[in-house]
Amino acid sequence: MNLRERIIFKAGELLYPGFGREAAAFGGGEAAPLLKLNALLAHARRHLPAYDAACASAGVGPSGLAAIEDAGRLPRLERGDLARKANRIREGRSLARLESGGTGRSGKVETALDLRGVVKRYAGLLSVLKTAGWRMGEKIVAFHPVEYGYFNNLGLLLRSRAFTKILFEFFQQYFLYRLFHNRKNIHYGAELFTSPEAAAALLEKALAENPLFIITRPDALMAVLKSLRNRPAPGFGRLKAVLTVGTVLGETVRKEAREKLGAEVYNMYASTELGYVALGCARPEGRLHVNEADYLAETDGERGLTVTDFNNRLMPMLRYGTGDVGELSAGGCACGRRGQLLRVLGRKDKFIKDGRGDRLYEADVIDRTFPADLPLFQLLAGKEDKLEILFSGGSPRADEAAAAGIAGLLSLDKGAYVFSRAESFKMPASGKFCFLP
Ligand SMILES: [Zn+2]
Repeated sequence: MNLRERIIFKAGELLYPGFGREAAAFGGGEAAPLLKLNALLAHARRHLPAYDAACASAGVGPSGLAAIEDAGRLPRLERGDLARKANRIREGRSLARLESGGTGRSGKVETALDLRGVVKRYAGLLSVLKTAGWRMGEKIVAFHPVEYGYFNNLGLLLRSRAFTKILFEFFQQYFLYRLFHNRKNIHYGAELFTSPEAAAALLEKALAENPLFIITRPDALMAVLKSLRNRPAPGFGRLKAVLTVGTVLGETVRKEAREKLGAEVYNMYASTELGYVALGCARPEGRLHVNEADYLAETDGERGLTVTDFNNRLMPMLRYGTGDVGELSAGGCACGRRGQLLRVLGRKDKFIKDGRGDRLYEADVIDRTFPADLPLFQLLAGKEDKLEILFSGGSPRADEAAAAGIAGLLSLDKGAYVFSRAESFKMPASGKFCFLP
């Protein structure tokens, strides 16, 4: 352990005993799901009368559940419940209030964490980095859309008098990440998705830092990889791994990144509301290992993904309907680890139907079209039930051929689509690019 690591682990352990064990390996916490679920359930029922009543009418007795398989009997927490803070426990001080939901869903929601929650989240982050082979102090470059820049948001935060948030984020960005983690943030604008030159420039900027790790959303990684297809590959120096989080990572994208960048790619399923739920390994075949010590993941008949976080006592996240669609499987992974595996497909309400009537989610669209030499595009609901294939940037003359290529790969019937061009793509406030926005 180096000095930076020793300082962090000592402080973490003081604030939350068990920190070291959890920070050392992803999913390394104590595995006692039923015990943890029942403890959180009892806590939530004690403090939230409406939730207690809902549990009682679902036939869940005061002693909780008899088996983890019965979790499906508990009421599901929806995003709307979160937005009206139905699960916020009044007593208890929040240290951090993290905002999410700039993605155009039903309004913004705020996730409150107490000190223990923040420290546990941080242990989760360290465990992710550690599993990807990182050692404290090794150079990391993180790509962020400009919307996430600290000084971009400072004016707004000052006006809303969010002083705790200002201090917390400053501590996180400039003290913890910059000083201890040796992490450098590089911001990009929406032109990344329309201009291969902008994507190439972003990569160049990153490589100038000679990083061992790059953290990026999969959408930005796709843009960078596409920009590399028609130009000589730069040298990637000491780059060991790429960590992706935030949008859906297609398996084809992961494979190409691995080949082109000569680095391992670790994909995460994480959110502001839940923290670090699942992490891929070096041989994931599109699937991620669920952190079963801290989370319970379930899917329903429509493949809707519900996740329980055993840890947030200030805002119990019991059976949170994530709005994502995914597949869970049990058993082994090619890497040798056993346990639950998760494949994330996309958002529940974001799919198209191909000519055979099959649903294609974000991951399906990516995996079918990414390997082809096509520009980025978006699929929108067009007029008269036709799918609109939207292009931006590139040459107008190439659009017709590209549209036909896309239609072929997605098995769209001729006449079922139209194509168009716009100045920019349809982007949410969070700056995420999706094929199915
Ligand atoms: Zn694995």
